[in-house]
Amino acid sequence: MSGKPLSIAPALLADIYAHAQECFPAECCGWIRGPREENELTAVRRCNNAQATSESGIAGRGAETAYVIEGKDLLEFTSTYEDGDEPPKILYHSHPNGRAYFSDTDQGVAAPFGEPSYWVQHLVVGLTADKLVEAALFDWGEAEEKYIEVARWLINR
Ligand SMILES: [Zn+2]
Repeated sequence: MSGKPLSIAPALLADIYAHAQECFPAECCGWIRGPREENELTAVRRCNNAQATSESGIAGRGAETAYVIEGKDLLEFTSTYEDGDEPPKILYHSHPNGRAYFSDTDQGVAAPFGEPSYWVQHLVVGLTADKLVEAALFDWGEAEEKYIEVARWLINR
């Protein structure tokens, strides 16, 4: 599914921005789903960031610097990814340091064995206590063999 960036409707972005602000200073996470056969996005599915309590999270980090999706969130993600009518197309999370980038940790989580575990794009929202700063969308780069930035939004509000 690598290719052109998916177009994310303003209402979906607003929903994700609100989620990021509600979770601050922790990272939020979730996904955007859409019809399997169409290049469309229909709804945001929020997840619980289990990093603070998980044993499968990133070692040595709290929910302020990492996220992990597990339990019923992960079950729904994998089952709809495999055979749902509206599979996850974009995974999102936030960076409470105000910057939208795809960190080495993000790359490692998304593509632990040199290619994506799930063929989805990734949206990262950077925000601070005061404001939403920016967001960026990343897709798998076949040539680069890692996720690369394909779209960016400056928010500043
Ligand atoms: Zn990240």
